Amino acid sequence: MVQKRQTHSMSSIADNIGSVTRRIQKATLAAGREPGSVSLLAVSKTRPPEDLRAAVTAGQTAFGENYLQEALDKIEALRDLPDLEWHFIGPIQSNKTRQIAESFAWVHSVDRLKIARRLSEQRPEGLPPLNICLQVNINDEASKSGCTLDQLPDLVAAIGELPNLRLRGLMAIPDPDQPEGELRLSFRRLANALNALKQQHPDAGPLDTLSMGMSGDMDLAIAEGATWVRVGTALFGARPPKQAQG
Ligand SMILES: *Cc1c(COP(=O)(O)O)cnc(C)c1O
Repeated sequence: MVQKRQTHSMSSIADNIGSVTRRIQKATLAAGREPGSVSLLAVSKTRPPEDLRAAVTAGQTAFGENYLQEALDKIEALRDLPDLEWHFIGPIQSNKTRQIAESFAWVHSVDRLKIARRLSEQRPEGLPPLNICLQVNINDEASKSGCTLDQLPDLVAAIGELPNLRLRGLMAIPDPDQPEGELRLSFRRLANALNALKQQHPDAGPLDTLSMGMSGDMDLAIAEGATWVRVGTALFGARPPKQAQG
């Protein structure tokens, strides 16, 4: 019985990877964008390593994690799988930067220069530069991390000088409770900000990335230019209620 239930849940994760992939393709096509220009980041916070294995079986390689210790445990548990790409997407305390710099390929949630400096200094020699996005608090919500749009030019200029980072672009988590039109405008503001930065700071980094869109709003985000959508619930099901997670 246990065996059977496991098999069932694994095949549904694989099914979900398939249906989300088709949803991404459809939205990409509808937006008149290049096929393959939107990547799927599987957000695996709170999920056990077996769920990630099921996703890998369906072809998924990029995983997003929010809580450092939980992520490090999973990275260790999945060491036997080659070519997984780990993305850190949660709030960053400065005493955690070393382990993030050592274990991840991407960080989507950099929101201040101090964190960027530490990540660059602590990126181990021999690893490629760490890909980073600047997180923008696009709806100026008191409860959310992220810099303001006004802070971006100075941050980008300073981060462009850091040797062990590659500044890939911008990330945001817009307020999901706003009306659809407003939500769409939030995504558009982030896309416009990236375009402006590309003009003003052509040497700061590739600036080719918009990390925006989750299970509920990935289609809108793709219409506005997302290149990474960060999807948890639509792949792995509802998460347990949030509580003290480190
Ligand atoms: C949890 C989380 C997601 C995934 O959200 P879903 O609604 O489950 O798809 C995406 N991005 C960030 C930063 C998250 O913390």
